[in-house]
Amino acid sequence: MLNKAKFTSFKDSEAARVESVRLMGDEKDPNHVSVGYTIRYPRNPVIGDKFSSRHGQKGVLSVIWPQEDMPFTETGITPDIIINPHAFPSRMTIGMLIESLAGKGGSLNGEFIDVTPFEKYEDDDAVDYYGRELVKHGYNYYGNEVMYSGIQGEMMKVDIYMGLVYYQRLRHMVSDKSQARATGPYDVLTHQPVKGRKKMGGIRFGEMERDSLLAHGASFCLNDRLMKCSDYSEGYVCCKCGSILSTYLNRKILQRSGHELNNQFKQGAQNTGSFAITE
Ligand SMILES: [Zn+2]
Repeated sequence: MLNKAKFTSFKDSEAARVESVRLMGDEKDPNHVSVGYTIRYPRNPVIGDKFSSRHGQKGVLSVIWPQEDMPFTETGITPDIIINPHAFPSRMTIGMLIESLAGKGGSLNGEFIDVTPFEKYEDDDAVDYYGRELVKHGYNYYGNEVMYSGIQGEMMKVDIYMGLVYYQRLRHMVSDKSQARATGPYDVLTHQPVKGRKKMGGIRFGEMERDSLLAHGASFCLNDRLMKCSDYSEGYVCCKCGSILSTYLNRKILQRSGHELNNQFKQGAQNTGSFAITE
């Protein structure tokens, strides 16, 4: 392989950018050098993408709201993310509340915060310390803020807690996962739909899904899912005795066996989908 270069081409349909290129190999032996590269896919967030704070409060983007319709504070700040307070009691991610409080206090003072666990802040715990910091800057002690509806413009008569939390996107994106199939390829052995998104496979319609359709009385839909789009298959049946014959028929073996096919299949090499008669 002296002085011969091997090329690989980029086959993905999605646009990407080369993030880094690095030469690998022995620098004393420049004839045996390989190139490694990292590709970056720039993707805008879309509905269905997964995000998380650093406390495991993960969730799926459900709606992208226009900024002018978002609620705003007295100073005109609109939140980036609105999170349901019911996400906290059962998950007990108090750290996220403290992070948002520390983030708010830190950003007001323009400083980085030491967040070592179990530390005291001027002989107080973090909540009291940052509560006092917020009051110093004219904010509510608990971090609550008055907000106004972005649609009606009215003041919202509820306590809304607002703060800064670091959020990151997780690598589970709908564009990698979205899948749909009415019918498609089948497994030759089991005659059931194949698995996998790449192969245009089926999505499991399990017992719980079956139960839902039953409960709704949608029996025609159930028949469609389980039979017409999934387990339905065609095969050969002997027109004399009714035996189910093999899916792959050999003409000579068929003659010797004594079984007989319908006239429709006797002539030529008819092909009904995946079933063929061989000579
Ligand atoms: Zn027969």
